Amino acid sequence: MNNHDRTLLNLQGVSKQFGDSDRCTPVVKGASCEVRRGEMVVVLGPSGSGKTTLLQMAAGLIAPTEGRIKLLGRDITQHTNGDLQRLRARRIGFIFQTCRLLDPLNAIDNVALAAEFAGSNRTEAKVKARQILNQLGVEHLARAYPPSLSQGERQRVAVARALVNAPDLLFADEPTASLESSQGLRLIELLSEYVHAHEAGLIVATHDLRIIAYADRVLRIEDGVLAPVDEPMRLQATGTKQIV
Ligand code: ADP
Ligand code: MG
Repeated sequence: MNNHDRTLLNLQGVSKQFGDSDRCTPVVKGASCEVRRGEMVVVLGPSGSGKTTLLQMAAGLIAPTEGRIKLLGRDITQHTNGDLQRLRARRIGFIFQTCRLLDPLNAIDNVALAAEFAGSNRTEAKVKARQILNQLGVEHLARAYPPSLSQGERQRVAVARALVNAPDLLFADEPTASLESSQGLRLIELLSEYVHAHEAGLIVATHDLRIIAYADRVLRIEDGVLAPVDEPMRLQATGTKQIV
């Protein structure tokens, strides 16, 4: 497999501007980055810097105003949300900043639904959902409904949903923000293990500097400008608040 085949995501000069007024300044400005197989890429940045917008464009959830996005070998720049649904359902996992579970469905059905969207029949989907809940140590929550779960429990069900189809590429938007410290660390370890075991890619937006220790590459976004961080471990060592 050559280098090109290992590229899961490639952004070139991607910008996003909300609204069409001339006075609107872009929230993401000419961002370029790449995620390859087996890589965890971390995007640090303060609140409002454009992390969520960047991840949502990269996953094809919202369209860029400028630039090119190649996702799993396909140029998705011009594609609409609907066109991308199949690709996303089968090969991409997205862990949202807020879990976005469906309250009327219990945990196992939330997870199984993602497997059904990717093509499994109902029985297979349930089996897969139970397996992944088991692997994440939350099989006891299978029949619980999201409103009765703690933040941390909901997040783990959301992670199970993101992983149920063994995606090639995972997006995680501040996945540890709603978790207590030790749970957050366990989640980072789990995502890192997944990436390495499956030769998958992960792009994670976060404030959590502990993630740096697991990252293959660290980028920082500020006021919509994305740039590589040259010595990320130094960043972590100083633990300075102005970084994120
Ligand atoms: P972060 O995830 O780093 O906190 P976001 O990508 O959510 O940053 O937001 C970046 C900026 O874009 C913020 O100023 C936010 O208010 C603005 N923004 C985000 N989404 C929209 C939208 N749908 N319409 C208008 N402005 C938006
Ligand atoms: Mg955000």
